[in-house]
Amino acid sequence: MKFLKGALYTFATFLLFGQVGCVILAEQAEQRANVAKSKPPYTYKGTPATADLAPGRPLMAIDWHADPLLSYRDLTVTGTYGHVDFPRLRKGKLGLQVFTTVTHQPACFSTGCKPFPNLVGIKHVYGISPLSTWFSLSGRALWQAEKLRRFAKADGNFRIIRTGRDLETFLTDRRTNPDLIAGLLGVEGLHALEGDAKNVDVFFKAGFRLFGLTHWIDNAFAGSRHGEKAHALTEKGRDLIRAMVKKGMVIDLAHASLPTFKAVVAELKAIGSSGRPVRPVVVSHTGVQGTCPPTRNLTNEEIKLVVETDGVIGVGFWTHAVGPRRGKERKDDCQADLLAEPNRAVASAKAAARAMMHVARVTCGVADPVTPATAAQLAPRCFRHIGLGSDFDGYAPIGFDARGVGLIARVLEMDYKLKPSIIAMIMMGNSLRVLRAALPE
Ligand SMILES: [Zn+2]
Repeated sequence: MKFLKGALYTFATFLLFGQVGCVILAEQAEQRANVAKSKPPYTYKGTPATADLAPGRPLMAIDWHADPLLSYRDLTVTGTYGHVDFPRLRKGKLGLQVFTTVTHQPACFSTGCKPFPNLVGIKHVYGISPLSTWFSLSGRALWQAEKLRRFAKADGNFRIIRTGRDLETFLTDRRTNPDLIAGLLGVEGLHALEGDAKNVDVFFKAGFRLFGLTHWIDNAFAGSRHGEKAHALTEKGRDLIRAMVKKGMVIDLAHASLPTFKAVVAELKAIGSSGRPVRPVVVSHTGVQGTCPPTRNLTNEEIKLVVETDGVIGVGFWTHAVGPRRGKERKDDCQADLLAEPNRAVASAKAAARAMMHVARVTCGVADPVTPATAAQLAPRCFRHIGLGSDFDGYAPIGFDARGVGLIARVLEMDYKLKPSIIAMIMMGNSLRVLRAALPE
């Protein structure tokens, strides 16, 4: 009995100190990884980042991917670290943010990734998260969704969008209440369904409206470009695409393998009778191989598949996706000339703009790279498939935090001389088109 008591005390002490230590370590990792390399105020050539994203005006920014629900921070107050929270969304005029829930992350960041160990699982076990999150991937996603609901309730001026009507009401109300912001719940990787397609109903009821089919590993529904087999959509995955279309959920192909890309587009064509895909897809956060080499980024073939669905590519801001960075070997250099730009926030915005111009080039089949000298000559349809995919708080450094998103608009305006109507498409309009097509009434 005495021995048992002692063993219990030892276990409890280990658990407590282990947890405290892990929370401190996790917070430190977050502070180091989710860095904004430049601090506000964010301006370009003397003009504030949010110059045309003014309060009360319809124009705002929409961003397809951020991971702050993994953080221990209270998102209703301005954080001392990290990239995004409600006050910073308001300051940056970032009106609508997709909040993605991450449930699995192997210690692997390239290709051939195996499922174990799962770093997000360890974080939940030792991070003083509810027991429901310890060994359950779906439990983890649902807990993060619950956190967003609690933040929404505490804030009072934040709404979670579930339907097309929610979206339109939000847009109308925001005209008279510029403090009003909104979020859409997403999941990164269908492993969160734990192989059971019936969980789609559970997630839908919990408010999820975007499914990223894969993250770093293959799952029962789809193959990841980083996965062991990087396979195509499975039979179960095909059924799931149909269920998502029927329910009104956004299909996100970030991290998906090329065979999955092709199979999803084929399935979306097969569902309708017109021979065209019945829904647009998004790639919520990515770079493009046309400007940055890693396999993480989209090839021209994949860009064309998104265009075929009339979808949107959320161009990321983080250095590994779009630059600027200098690799250990020169072949990994990416937009390294921008490292000479003294303002790291501006360098990030310029790197993202270059990736956007590559999407425009592929969309319209332009022979030469689109440059500041040629961009304004392109037809508006060339910019129809470009959106924002920050990856804020995704454990990747970015030049600015959510208050600096408008820098993208400033660079498009001042460097590329794009018309305000085209900039509005990129910052908001294209993404609204996809949301209106996908969400249930
Ligand atoms: Zn991701």
